[in-house]
Amino acid sequence: MQNGEVSFWWQARGLPPRRPPLPGSTDADVAIVGAGYTGLWTAYYLKRADPGLRVVVLEQHFAGYGASGRNGGWVTATLPGSRTRYARGPQGQAGVRELERQLRETVDEVARVSQAEGIDAGLVKGGTLSVATSAAQDARLRQRLEQERGWGDGPGIVRYLEKDELAARVQVTGAIGALYWPDCARVQPASLAAGLAQAVAGAGVSLYEDTPVRSISAGLARTDAGDVRAPFVLRCTEGFTADLPGQHRTLLPMNSSMIVTGPLSEAAWKAIGWDGCETLGDEAHAYIYAQRTADGRIALGGRGVPYRFGSGLDHDGAVAESTIAQLGRILRRMFPAATGAGLDHAWCGVLGVPRDWCATVTMDPRTGLGWAGGYSGHGVAAANLAGRTLADLVRGVDSPLTTLPWVGHRSPRWEPEPARWAGVRGLYALYRTADRVETAGRSGRTSLLARAGDVISGIPH
Ligand SMILES: Cc1cc2nc3c(=O)[nH]c(=O)nc-3n(C[C@H](O)[C@H](O)[C@H](O)COP(=O)(O)OP(=O)(O)OC[C@H]3O[C@@H](n4cnc5c(N)ncnc54)[C@H](O)[C@@H]3O)c2cc1C
Repeated sequence: MQNGEVSFWWQARGLPPRRPPLPGSTDADVAIVGAGYTGLWTAYYLKRADPGLRVVVLEQHFAGYGASGRNGGWVTATLPGSRTRYARGPQGQAGVRELERQLRETVDEVARVSQAEGIDAGLVKGGTLSVATSAAQDARLRQRLEQERGWGDGPGIVRYLEKDELAARVQVTGAIGALYWPDCARVQPASLAAGLAQAVAGAGVSLYEDTPVRSISAGLARTDAGDVRAPFVLRCTEGFTADLPGQHRTLLPMNSSMIVTGPLSEAAWKAIGWDGCETLGDEAHAYIYAQRTADGRIALGGRGVPYRFGSGLDHDGAVAESTIAQLGRILRRMFPAATGAGLDHAWCGVLGVPRDWCATVTMDPRTGLGWAGGYSGHGVAAANLAGRTLADLVRGVDSPLTTLPWVGHRSPRWEPEPARWAGVRGLYALYRTADRVETAGRSGRTSLLARAGDVISGIPH
């Protein structure tokens, strides 16, 4: 079994030849730091809107090296943040509903551009399932459905599936019921990143790889190879942001780990079903997420080691053996028919979490400094919407996107160490205990331990 090596997604499709690094100091109209989805989509829409713009993208490794080439491949319309917190903005609840509508449309926008640019990323819009495997999880699902209805989301946006309805789609051992949202697609994440990078470079964006940016200030991105001077400098570094000077407490690099099976036999797929390719998660506090891959495997992810002291990063995605064992147990429990396929690869990556779990898209017209990120694990579609929004903000265009409630949102900073480390590790210890308590009991009540964890962490539900 392979471990790390960035991700299964990259190894499966093959790493692309490296693009050359920045050859020396240069001027541009817009400098973008980071070639994940956020940076690439921003560059894409800037060039579409104004082909004459000189756009430079600076990437420390290669395009798609970060979360964008390692994620679970859910192109999800899930709000990256808390409705209540966003509703405190000037647009109130209407603003939140508009942001959610835009996110749903974004799933189709990603599909549209993929087709238009010839990006073959195995995208299938099959919706997404959140499955309950204990009475407490099921009670939470039903409560969540009520909340969704309270926000005006009808059955076309989310609906409850009884046990039999769920089983007709996919066989998950111990499942009681599920919520189903049609606005989600499955994708091969690295193929999307690679295709997007090619489209961006083909449109005339200067994309430099192996070029770490050492500091960002108004009008300037500084690298060892030279400076890029531009009236607009955009930070698109999500989970890696803590490494930049002055940004140590802006976004917490939260780890997420994944495993993938070998290809399943026809008999195993017959037993499991899953013909609709819905993305699938559970309603545990330390939840998992999974997809049926285009090449007939199951890829499943979960938190693993949630956070490394001092905002430390992984080494090219290498995962602890204990995490692989833990995710493997969950996979075999949920999909016993997949056991025979074994495990082919495990990897991990970091996503950016703000202290209030709400994403931000922002650009200061006085300094020309902007950034987007903090999607808290829901960034695949959100990065597209953020990229379109950053492009409008840079061009000074007033659009329906530039008044969305995440524009200019300010999150508090994270606590300094060791409080940050103790808080996050303690939170996930609480969640895991709460999951064990709920699975062991028959009560439909959420464990008090989990409720305490939610209050301390501020995680939105
Ligand atoms: C394991 C995992 C599973 C996930 N699953 C899902 C999912 O299924 N659905 C979903 O919606 N979201 C998911 N996410 C989150 C989602 O992948 C991210 O939110 C999204 O990819 C963020 O894109 P980004 O471009 O902002 O950041 P990234 O993709 O992390 O890109 C940032 C880029 O900036 C570069 N960089 C950083 N610092 C510098 C510097 N100083 N100089 C130059 N370059 C720099 C990095 O090398 C990297 O390429 C997951 C994340 C992980 C880790």
